[in-house]
Amino acid sequence: MVKELKGIAASDGIAIAKAYLLVEPDLSFDKTEVADTEAEVKRFQDAVAVSGSELGKIRDIAKESLGEDKAQIFDAHLLVLNDPELITPISENITNNKVNAESALQETTDMFIGMFESMDNEYMRERAADIRDVRKRVLSHLLNVTIPNPALIDEEVVVVAKDLTPSDTAQLNRNFVKGFVTDIGGRTSHSAIMARSLEIPAVVGTGEITHDTKEGQMIIVDGLEGNVIIDPTADQIAHYEKVKSDFAAQQAEWNKLKNEATVSKDGHHVELGANIGTPEDLTGVIANGGEAVGLYRTEFLYMGRENFPTEEEQYEAYKAVLSGMDGKAVVVRTLDIGGDKTLPYLDLPHEMNPFLGFRAIRLCFANKDLFRTQLRALLRASVHGNLKIMFPMIATVNEFRQAKALLEDAKAELLAEGVAVSDTIELGIMIEIPAAAILADQFAKEVDFFSIGTNDLIQYTMAADRMNEQVSYLYQPYNPSILRLVKMVIDAAHKEGKWAGMCGEMAGDQTAVPLLLGMGLDEFSMSASSILKSRSLIKRLDRTEMAKLADEALQQATEEDVVALVNKYTAE
Ligand code: PEP
Ligand code: MG
Repeated sequence: MVKELKGIAASDGIAIAKAYLLVEPDLSFDKTEVADTEAEVKRFQDAVAVSGSELGKIRDIAKESLGEDKAQIFDAHLLVLNDPELITPISENITNNKVNAESALQETTDMFIGMFESMDNEYMRERAADIRDVRKRVLSHLLNVTIPNPALIDEEVVVVAKDLTPSDTAQLNRNFVKGFVTDIGGRTSHSAIMARSLEIPAVVGTGEITHDTKEGQMIIVDGLEGNVIIDPTADQIAHYEKVKSDFAAQQAEWNKLKNEATVSKDGHHVELGANIGTPEDLTGVIANGGEAVGLYRTEFLYMGRENFPTEEEQYEAYKAVLSGMDGKAVVVRTLDIGGDKTLPYLDLPHEMNPFLGFRAIRLCFANKDLFRTQLRALLRASVHGNLKIMFPMIATVNEFRQAKALLEDAKAELLAEGVAVSDTIELGIMIEIPAAAILADQFAKEVDFFSIGTNDLIQYTMAADRMNEQVSYLYQPYNPSILRLVKMVIDAAHKEGKWAGMCGEMAGDQTAVPLLLGMGLDEFSMSASSILKSRSLIKRLDRTEMAKLADEALQQATEEDVVALVNKYTAE
């Protein structure tokens, strides 16, 4: 039966395909006593054998579709599964204690996991994570429950999930995943941001999609308006096929602006950059006529893997982006882990408020070796292009000074080793904490540039979690309070002769763009897929008029008033 849901439009485009449910299975069980321990051991061994052949299959497919790197994780799982030192004690536990295979598996693996996790050795801690994954697989076979294997997707699907973590998203094969829909999340949750960079249509925050959808049901994802239709009628499919082709025609029109500069009607040039997460995203930046990389979220380099990337690996990635941009600016943001971005191999404390907690630069200050490795890799790569470095989540001027000092230490170290480092690297900060926005005049004396991170700035200013659809009504980019902060930051930068950019999602928002242009923003960095439509818009706008419009917007009381003002102007 047809069911329609409303969510938050997270990534443009229309997808029509079968549902693939990516949901955590229920693996709960009771501890029981068994009489026939021999049969129970056999049941356990069978589950191990099936898990082994399944893992082998996943590894082969992953190698082909996602590459050797991503497939390695499954090799590690196979090693665990074939390790007699782990498997034999489980069988013995069943025999000696007459317990069911599920609880023997749980108890014995808990012991090993506890032991490995307490070791001061990164390699051993990773083995603990492997054991957890393997245990889950064997348990699913014992309980006859299917666990989803996204690496096995080999036909066109719409992925349906409660939420997608950035590392889940990183593992999706864009050839087959045509769209995705989630229960929770907002427009600026990182899964939504990644969907935009992969150019996969997405709707997030539907509340109940996982509850309403069955595996294999047809789904329409309308990432333009935030609608989802489960089990659509033939008429609905025909309608959306038409919307899809109209959207493609519109994109073809925008595409004509690919090699043009971004100049307003009255001749004012601004820079339209792209936000990227991996060197592979450069293809999209170039295809969409990006004039710079305004935000390289380096944390994605640390995700979807089992250990920290080495200095060499990082150097190669940064070099690829810098040389790929061929002298155009590349703003690289240092590691911003925490909040909704976690690493399986980095044990972060469980926090009540992870977005207010131990994340980004705070975490780097506490893990100086980790930070130093990244800074060295960046500095080494600096000779391959136009590098600008920025620090995330800066709240105080002293934090900036400390980060800068660590960068200078790393530079001195490299120079002493005889390694060449560019001496024209600009150094900036993200403005995403209200304290930094309010004190922008002081920061502007010490930094080379600002990049306004509205995704976080809005959540901290409005005290509304960017991931939480229940409070998404408070997530108001056009609220005059936000606009005033943005204006303060731009003015403070200009007063000191510095430039101000924006790399939050607001920079590519079609209602915000006229206001930002009017407020004097120098650089707009957005999902690559938003660049051409923003260029098309800016070419139709007069910057002097937009300055007046922005001044008027700053004097409004509500977000609705601001939107009405902009709409009135654009309708004229
Ligand atoms: C931001 O906060 O606006 C930003 C660009 O950073 P992130 O979305 O990665 O937190
Ligand atoms: Mg941020």
